[in-house]
Amino acid sequence: MASVEDALLTINAAANQRPIPQLRLSGAALALSPESAVSPVVAGLADVAYHAQHLLGENGSNLRACHAPGCVLYFVKTHPRREWCSVACGNRARAARHYQSVRSARTAHELTAR
Ligand SMILES: [Zn+2]
Repeated sequence: MASVEDALLTINAAANQRPIPQLRLSGAALALSPESAVSPVVAGLADVAYHAQHLLGENGSNLRACHAPGCVLYFVKTHPRREWCSVACGNRARAARHYQSVRSARTAHELTAR
């Protein structure tokens, strides 16, 4: 497993390959050219890395893992009581908690009935 430092180096190196538009003279007019020496795939990955830099750099201390059953997503905690990435995950977590409480109560009832 790579260290955090290795991951940061990878993200920063990828973001540095982000294409920079060039100002060119087209006839008598100036035009901003989106031409780039990098492939579209590298440009796309660089764009993702650039946005990851800003997301993690500006919200890193508020980044949380969603603990809903089966969810692997992360979210930016924008409210102190927010615990899930989406309303659907919150509902799934509440349903799982309710199911567990009903199941444990039923098991306890069955054990005392014997
Ligand atoms: Zn989630």
